[in-house]
Amino acid sequence: MSHRQIMEKEIGRSLKPSEVIHHINGNHRDNRIKNLYLCKDGQEHSCIHHGKDLDKWLDSCRKETFRNTSLFLRKSLRKKGFHF
Ligand SMILES: [Zn+2]
Repeated sequence: MSHRQIMEKEIGRSLKPSEVIHHINGNHRDNRIKNLYLCKDGQEHSCIHHGKDLDKWLDSCRKETFRNTSLFLRKSLRKKGFHF
């Protein structure tokens, strides 16, 4: 299964073409759900990659990203230990 299929299974719907899956630990072969983060678009994805560290990108992305964040994403982020 590709990382996109795994995420689709997890959230119970098809991914939109604009949505991007980020591999949290940087290993693109590690497709465990806890290593996958659903970005709503490429902008959020590059925000993750260009952030100096996790806190910073969460901070800088918070307004943009989390305005429309689904409950699922919040829950999955909390499970991964992120708090906001
Ligand atoms: Zn990425």
